[in-house]
Amino acid sequence: MKKTALLQALIFGMVMAFIPGAYAQDQEEINFVTNFFNQLQPKSIAENTEYCGYFGIDENDNFVATTPAKGDTDSCLANDPPENLDLFATYHTHGAYMFDADSELPSLNDLEADIDEYLDGYVATPGGRIWFNSVDRETAIMLCGRNCTVSDSEYVADTEYPVNNSYTVQQLRQRESE
Ligand SMILES: [Zn+2]
Repeated sequence: MKKTALLQALIFGMVMAFIPGAYAQDQEEINFVTNFFNQLQPKSIAENTEYCGYFGIDENDNFVATTPAKGDTDSCLANDPPENLDLFATYHTHGAYMFDADSELPSLNDLEADIDEYLDGYVATPGGRIWFNSVDRETAIMLCGRNCTVSDSEYVADTEYPVNNSYTVQQLRQRESE
């Protein structure tokens, strides 16, 4: 084997070795987020109140969530996170199903606030959807659809305003102006 070919084979092997790890980490993060929302959603729905906070990695490399702050029916202000936490996202819930609220997706304000804070965001909806607000893409992406996490048993899908799989800032602004 030529030297360059050997080097290429080595590099290829290293790259391949890294890919499963990266994927496993993402899946671990999603599992953590889903389990966390499963515990928080029943309270948020029963009280029709948003809860919010931060997700981070602690000094032992574990996923942790800060204690949820209690908001109201359509807003929530998180408590300052501890300084030793390596934050990777904000989180909030959307309370219970309300006929006149467009709460199955992040609001324009939700996405803009995450972009301003330069932290990705996770949002759980009354229908049990989980959204990811990506700062890099400036886009809200549905990670997981209806009943992905605990949902409101009163939830009724709004057939006039179906929910897409992703929204840019501009698309959210457009939807909210309709
Ligand atoms: Zn929201």
